[in-house]
Amino acid sequence: MITLRCENLIKSFNHTMVVNGISFSLEKGEIFGLLGPNGAGKSTTISMLSCQIRPTSGQIFISGDDIQENEKVIKGKIGVVPQEIALYDGLNAYENLHFFGSLYSMSKPRLTQKVKEVLERVGLTERAKEPVRNYSGGMKRRLNIAASILHDPEVLFMDEPTVGIDPQSRNHIYELIRQMSNEGMTILYTTHYMEEVNLLCDRAAIMDSGRILVMDSIKQLVSQVYDGLLSFELEGDQDRFDTVLQKLRNLSDIAEADLDKQVVTMLVKDSKNALKKILDCLEEHQCKMVQLNILPPTLETLFLKLTGKKLRE
Ligand code: ADP
Repeated sequence: MITLRCENLIKSFNHTMVVNGISFSLEKGEIFGLLGPNGAGKSTTISMLSCQIRPTSGQIFISGDDIQENEKVIKGKIGVVPQEIALYDGLNAYENLHFFGSLYSMSKPRLTQKVKEVLERVGLTERAKEPVRNYSGGMKRRLNIAASILHDPEVLFMDEPTVGIDPQSRNHIYELIRQMSNEGMTILYTTHYMEEVNLLCDRAAIMDSGRILVMDSIKQLVSQVYDGLLSFELEGDQDRFDTVLQKLRNLSDIAEADLDKQVVTMLVKDSKNALKKILDCLEEHQCKMVQLNILPPTLETLFLKLTGKKLRE
């Protein structure tokens, strides 16, 4: 069952398009990763999907409701964990949650029950009476998540929820996300850490410069780079380089090979067999390989192949 669908979403700020025609659908209970470097347009996409800013054009449906026609209904179905922590430092966890819960027009007994429940879920019951200013960054993030799930949203938007926090809180957040997904909550998770996508997500989209470059299951995405990316500098007679490149392209264990100045970059189908064949081929043409670099088959390698950039550049 599809919980969220967006079609051709566009957002411009001052005539600059920062989200440039994005479309995707999310299944109920899915954990979907939106992966991309800083400035790719992830937060802007989340802000549109969660009714915080209006798209310049495009459509968004949540559980079948059009966001433009039913903004109020939709706001009750979604939760947002923003990148910036939004809590009152002088209040304790109970007080913060009661304040945020009051925005969802829940009855008092229900709110009291939910506050107790979410504090338990994020592991803050013991510290709930302390002012938030005493909390670590990770505890604040967990409380922020608690505030966003008080009203049992169908879709939860999480914008880089683990940036700058301790490993214990991070693991707690991962575990919580898995639990919520198992209970049927749909989660859209943005990050520039590919390990998180590997660890958590069913599917992911890789975004850059406002566009989705690829979208698939993690396994399918990683398989696009076969056995990894291999690059090296070619040394020898430059007149032979084009011939060498052609020969390398014809090797059975190589999926793609390119030459840029002296640097050869290859997508390798089987790295164990390929290296020997490459070396034999170079020797045959009196060329040498220097500065060999092997990148394993990961989402980072896929991003590098697609854009020539590293995710965290
Ligand atoms: P990400 O979350 O992937 O880091 P953002 O969605 O925050 O990317 O930003 C995408 C681009 O849009 C950036 O170049 C950013 O400077 C620009 N941008 C975001 N919000 C605004 C705004 N309110 N006004 C102008 N430009 C913005």
